[in-house]
Amino acid sequence: MKFVNSYLARMQDYNKEHKLKYYIDTMGCQMNENDSMKYAGILESMGFEKGEEDNSNLYLFNTCCVRENAENTLFGRLGMLKKKKMQNPQTYIVIIGCLTQQQVMVDKIKKSYRFVDVILGTGAMSIFPEKIYNAIVTNEKHLEYLDMSNALDEDVPVVFDDKYKASVSIIYGCNNFCTYCIVPYVRGRERSRKPEDIISDIQKLAKDGYKEIMLLGQNVNSYGNDFDEKYTFSMLLQEIEKIDGIEIIRFMSPHPKDFKDDLIEVIKNSKKIARQIHLPLQSGNTEVLKKMNRKYTKEQYIELAMKLKQIPDISLSTDIIVGFPGETEEQFEDTLDVVNTVKFDQIYMFIYSPREGTVGARMEDNTPYSQKVERLERLKKLYEDTLPQLNEKMVGKTYKLLVEGKSKTNDNLYTGRTSQNKVVVFEANEEDVGKVVNIKIDSDHLWYLKGTIV
Ligand code: SF4
Repeated sequence: MKFVNSYLARMQDYNKEHKLKYYIDTMGCQMNENDSMKYAGILESMGFEKGEEDNSNLYLFNTCCVRENAENTLFGRLGMLKKKKMQNPQTYIVIIGCLTQQQVMVDKIKKSYRFVDVILGTGAMSIFPEKIYNAIVTNEKHLEYLDMSNALDEDVPVVFDDKYKASVSIIYGCNNFCTYCIVPYVRGRERSRKPEDIISDIQKLAKDGYKEIMLLGQNVNSYGNDFDEKYTFSMLLQEIEKIDGIEIIRFMSPHPKDFKDDLIEVIKNSKKIARQIHLPLQSGNTEVLKKMNRKYTKEQYIELAMKLKQIPDISLSTDIIVGFPGETEEQFEDTLDVVNTVKFDQIYMFIYSPREGTVGARMEDNTPYSQKVERLERLKKLYEDTLPQLNEKMVGKTYKLLVEGKSKTNDNLYTGRTSQNKVVVFEANEEDVGKVVNIKIDSDHLWYLKGTIV
């Protein structure tokens, strides 16, 4: 649906006089970060200026409910803003995203945080300007739950936070219902954006000087399953490959069960698709995977990972949940076995945290928390023991890399990521920033590499 909204101009008029500033606090995944850039675009189209945490008027919290700590973070920050709102009535608090997609959370906010002005869930971009205008200009709060999670808005203005790298959502929602995951309940069913809309967005980004694109979706390789005519993720990638100016294409996240050979072939033959694949494992034990509703076995996962590893210079990253309800020591050891066999360049590891409303939250869980922490530590150690072997292999080789800017820890060095998503630090000049250069790796360290532009 095209994004048309009369409240943009009305709010802009108001802001000519009042010059309100906005501040966005984003929690959770890259999909949320991408949404926040669109909310920033909408707010700037309404005449708001970007502010800082201590000098803004409109505070927008884009929330996450995948893990409990994001909830606690939100409620902690709301408590701090209450005081600010009492001191300056021109302070407005807006909560959007996955957390407010749950009625129980909306009720909690209404009861305990009555100073909040607007609550909206996911997919509510089309009514966002109206609700903001009403809260500020006509003093009408919006604190009701509206399920708009199946919306698909196009042409939403976006403010990217980087001049060379941009993210583009290609599919929203998820149909998989993994038993630990709340996403399908709060983000709706899978909706693929039309290929022509995606291509046109990326062409515009290329024209504006963007070099690297991250394609986003909860399950990118389900792309096109909801179209009447056959159009797959690998077909989309081949079209994006043709866009001049785009030099690096990344995507996140594919589901192992949908990773077909045609996609592997396209990656293998591509000059632009990054040599890094994120392949969420979650558990290395087939029984646990079944309880998680992941629809692949330990052996199928290893077979796929090994097939991908045949692509020269490929690196694999993954997500692992430790301590899923009922996970035994032997089952956990299967996870260690997969990690040892595949050898991941990056692992995002978490202790299982039950999410209300999911099937997993109703499963019996007898494993003490201390045992889960101990398993996480063992997994971390194994990962850190295998990583140097992978880094070492890169020394002496030359890789293409986008120079991102100065290193955060050393003002004399610059930084960027190889196609394998490895951070490299090197000497460069300010005019190299934004360029794609060849870099030879001189030495390896656990979390970064050192190199020289050649
Ligand atoms: S694929 Fe599974 S883990 Fe990923 S968003 Fe869907 S339900 Fe959640």
